[in-house]
This record gives sequence, C-alpha cells and structure tokens, in this order.
Amino acid sequence: MPVAEAQTGLRTVTHWIGGKSVDSKSGRSGVVWNPAAGEEQASVAFASAEEVDAAVASAREAFPAWRATPLSRRTEVMFRLREVVDRNRRKIAEILTSEHGKTIGDAEGEVARGLEDIEFACGVPNLLKGEFSEQASRGVDVYQIRQPLGVTAGITPFNFPAMVPMWMFANAIACGNTFVLKPSERDPSVSVLLAELLQTAGVPDGVFNVVQGDRVAVERLLEHPDVKAISFVGSTPVAKSIYETATRNGKRVQALGGAKNHMVVLPDADINMAADAAVSAGYGSAGERCMAISVVVAVGSAADPLIEAIRERVSRIRIGPGMEDGQEMGPLITREHRDRVASYLDGAAAEGAQVAVDGRAEPVSKRAGFFLAPSLLDNVRPGMRCYDDEIFGPVLSVVRVATYNDAVRMIEQNPYGNGTAIFTRDGGAARRFQFEVEAGMVGINVPIPVPMSYYSFGGWKASLFGDLHMYGPEGIQFYTRAKVVTSRWPEPATSRVDLGFPQVR
Ligand code: NAD
Repeated sequence: MPVAEAQTGLRTVTHWIGGKSVDSKSGRSGVVWNPAAGEEQASVAFASAEEVDAAVASAREAFPAWRATPLSRRTEVMFRLREVVDRNRRKIAEILTSEHGKTIGDAEGEVARGLEDIEFACGVPNLLKGEFSEQASRGVDVYQIRQPLGVTAGITPFNFPAMVPMWMFANAIACGNTFVLKPSERDPSVSVLLAELLQTAGVPDGVFNVVQGDRVAVERLLEHPDVKAISFVGSTPVAKSIYETATRNGKRVQALGGAKNHMVVLPDADINMAADAAVSAGYGSAGERCMAISVVVAVGSAADPLIEAIRERVSRIRIGPGMEDGQEMGPLITREHRDRVASYLDGAAAEGAQVAVDGRAEPVSKRAGFFLAPSLLDNVRPGMRCYDDEIFGPVLSVVRVATYNDAVRMIEQNPYGNGTAIFTRDGGAARRFQFEVEAGMVGINVPIPVPMSYYSFGGWKASLFGDLHMYGPEGIQFYTRAKVVTSRWPEPATSRVDLGFPQVR
C-alpha cells in the first residue's frame, strides 16, 4: 500500500490520481485508529478543492478512450479484476479488520459480497444490450442504446469500506464511466489497495481515482461541473443534504441513508431460531451495519420466551480483537462513537425502558480498545430516544406489541424503511407482511435480507433519496442514459416537404 511517513512517524494514507499514489499538499489530515487497541495507526490526508479538481480532471481525460473501449475488452478487464480481488481476499480483509475493527471472518464476508458485484458487472455486454423495433413506421426503425455518463463519483461510509465502493464502481466502470471515490476518512487504506488492484487488472490510469478527505472534498465533488453523477451511502442527514445539493447542481444522485430495521416475531415462530437470528443480526459487526436488526417487535406471547432466549445467547458472545481466532464481535469504530452508543443505555432507563443486559458492566468494555459488550433493552416504545435514533452499535431494543397489526403500523410510522424481517411459521402471515410492509428490503425468516448482486439494494422513506437503488440492474440504469434513435433509408426520389407532425401512415 503506498504510504508516506509523516513527521509523527505514522504512515500517511494518500490519494490515488491518474494511476499513482499522490501525497496531499492541503496540510489537513485526520487520524486513522486501530479500534481494537485504541491507538492511532495512521494519518489520512484530507484533500483540498484543488486536489479534488485534479482527480476529476484525470477522470475526465480518461473518459473518451475508456468509453470507446470495446465492450468485450472492458469485460475482460472486469474478469481480471474479479480474479485479482479474489486472490487478495485475505489482504483486503486484514486491512478492514485493522481499521474498522470487524472480525476477520466478517471482513472476508464483506469482500465476498463485494466480489459478487464485480461478477455481476462481468455480464455488462448483456446488461447493456439495447432494444430494437423494426418497421416502427414504413421503412423506419427505432432503437434505444444506453451510454455512460462521464465522470461519476462515490462517497462511502466507514462500515463497509470495501464492499460499498464495489457496489458503485463495478457497474460504473463496466458501463464505460470513469470514477472518483471519496472513502470514509475513518478506514481509508483499503481504497488505495483497491486502486492498485484495479490497475493490476488493466483498468487504464485515470479511470479510477481516490481522493481522501472530509466534507471539503465532498462539497467540491457536489459542485464540480464535470461530475455527472453522485452515489452516496451514509447517515440520513448527510444523505438528504447531499441529495438536495447535488440535484440542485444538476447531477444524477442516489443517496442511501440510515436505518432502523424491525424484526417482527409472531407467537407461532420458532423462538430459538428467532433468537439466533436477532442476536446474529443485532450484534454482528458490533451493530454497525445499515441492515442490522436494531428493534425486535415481539408480538403477544412471543415476548417473554424470546427475551430469555436472546439474553442467554448474548452472554455467550465472544468479544475481542477481530484478528484473534474465535472472536465473534470486535470493537466500535472510535472512542466517541462507543461512548455515544453507551449513552443510550442511561437514556433508555431514564425514559422507562428496562436495561435487560448492560454491556458496559462487562470487563471487555473497560479495555483500551473501543469495545462495548452487547446490551439488550426491554419495553422500549416509539418516542424514546433509543427507539427513534439510529444507534448504530451493539444495543438491541425489544418493543412488545399485542397484535400483528400493531407491529406493521409501527414499521409504517417509522421514518426509516431500509430492511425489515418477519419470523413466523404461518405462510399466510408472511405473505401478507411482504405485501403491506413499508420497507425496501424484506426478510421472511431471514434477518439481514441484503439482495444478491443481480437484484438492487435500497430502502424506502428516509433510507434512500433518489429514484434508483444501488448495484444490480438499477445500478446499470443509474450509470447510463438512454438514447433513442429513429432511422430510415428512403429512396431519395420519394422525398418531399411535409410540414405536418410526423405520424405513421
Ligand atoms: P456518515 O454520513 O458520517 O459519512 C458517510 C460519508 O459522508 C463519509 O465519506 C464522510 O466523510 C462523508 N461526510 C460525513 N459528514 C459529511 C458532511 N457533513 N458533509 C459532506 N460529507 C460528509 O456515515 P458513517 O458514519 O460513515 O456511516 C454510518 C452510516 O451509514 C449509518 O447511518 C448507516 O446506516 C449508513 N449506511 C447506510 C447504508 C445503506 O445502504 N442504506 C449502508 C451502509 C451505511
């Protein structure tokens, strides 16, 4: 990984512009932590507006040749990228664990799901096939082609530093666009490794660029006239503001926001299976997943046995540094975030919820790393901060309701609509839930229903601003625009002036 030694002796994570690592001259930087040790491990450059301009200029320069590169050649590059990423799975995962904190197995899972998006993009010749209508009028054919947009940009969150960029750039590049990535400043190193792997796979210099940074870099991307489309994933307030600014500036935007994912457990569900799912989806990756289950909605008599079963499983979760064998949950991303998550436990008790399991009491939560053991809140209700806010940590809330209708209404009234799940043995209830629930991704006895790469990912309501979901078929639509051609080859002798509006005769 290209690094420069800063005066502090820490390595510096650089930009990647025009096919090489570029040191920043902005004089601004941030700390990259090792969350398992609670120590600084690197410094990350924060791009100035001029450095963003250099990355966009490099992407703009690379666009005409890349766009004109035959489809089969671009496909070859995507296949090679798939092989190169596959060969480097472990190396990528180790960087993820060292900067994000997630366990190495979880990090490998992230790489595997990102690889699926590259595999999908290998099918780009088929995905970009146009439509053709012969003899739309006498001697007239009409056809539609899809063309790339130009320079596109992606702004990504800390929780999936490899997979979410792959959600975006795999389709963007395969469709013939060039790309500028602004990764999260909290775990930025993997973006530079990905740039190297793209280069190894044969992606021409300038087609993929990385600018490290904070809101200064983002704001420049949002206003830059040469950036045609913005893909964003992150928290809802930032997603909303990015959507508003970038659309005002005439760009195509998909901005995925935060979440509050409800898992409904009906009284007829297999309680052990539901508890396994709630614990896996609630505490996996320390709750720092946008598809994490954060609220279990226990219907009627499901509540007591379910809470007991969850509590028993929580006590057995192994927590520690993600690189250690056998650990199931690592630390949170920063000390501030860990403390913020922990503060919800005091708040919940003050608002009348019960802290059924208090992770702060566990010895691991007192280590130098940013650990917080899992916590469980019971008798949570809408209106409490622990219900209304996206906590984004290992705190699972249980809301007790009397009926299925109460559960569905609660989900409908929640401002977010990312994922949701139902656990039941009643096929009719599951079918009804699928039909009426207000969320973009639904699991039936599946707690984290992240769509496969050949579908598209996206929530409803405050979980997505924009019209198109990310990756999959909607990703191809997002990164291309349609052109419809009407064509005829008449005998010149039949030509005449006709001022009427064209119509079929
Ligand atoms: P974040 O919103 O703080 O940051 C996301 C990106 O935006 C980063 O690159 C960051 O540098 C940039 N950014 C932050 N503040 C900004 C500002 N004021 N102006 C311009 N740019 C800004 O999110 P995060 O903490 O990195 O990630 C966690 C959030 O992302 C959670 O809310 C989670 O639900 C959400 N998320 C959503 C999805 C989804 O698919 N819907 C997937 C992953 C994460």
